[in-house]
Amino acid sequence: MILGLVHMQTTYVSCDVGCLFMILPQVGITSTVILNNVNEQIVSKSLPCIEPLTCFRKEKYVYSHKHMSTIASFRVANSGLGNKIPIQGLPRLPFCPKCRFPFPNDEVHVIVQCTSLAGMREMLGLSSFFNECKGYSSDKMYILYVNGLDEYGNWVSSEDYEARGLNLSKMRSAWVSMIQDS
Ligand SMILES: [Zn+2]
Repeated sequence: MILGLVHMQTTYVSCDVGCLFMILPQVGITSTVILNNVNEQIVSKSLPCIEPLTCFRKEKYVYSHKHMSTIASFRVANSGLGNKIPIQGLPRLPFCPKCRFPFPNDEVHVIVQCTSLAGMREMLGLSSFFNECKGYSSDKMYILYVNGLDEYGNWVSSEDYEARGLNLSKMRSAWVSMIQDS
């Protein structure tokens, strides 16, 4: 499913496989023109599972608060963990450098699984949320958390969603510091 995110001065078009396009706004360009432009790009990329967009929709977390860009970066799986773009001074890290087995170094592993961040996860309250999601896969727990949903799939409050953004930011900082120091 495709959705449009209006984020700061930039429009990202994303789906569950990540950010597809980034559109920088130009003065005088209407949303219909942008929509047509995105649809032309979708058609040109020959992506049979992706339908053309019919409208842009503002996501629930998109309003003026400090953690909007953090939430957006985790939602599109490009949060700066060193798996896609190297962290300064390090090679690209496609696998977790802290685990003995070759787990992918990705958002689900860092936020939900990696034992090296267990203490941080506990301290920030992520563990108690994940415990409430007993029986769910790590992917599902992660999706609920970054999309601002509780264990039943209901929206959490704006304050709670912002707090999740802060937690994601702290988890990312702890991760980056840990692998830079190791
Ligand atoms: Zn790990």
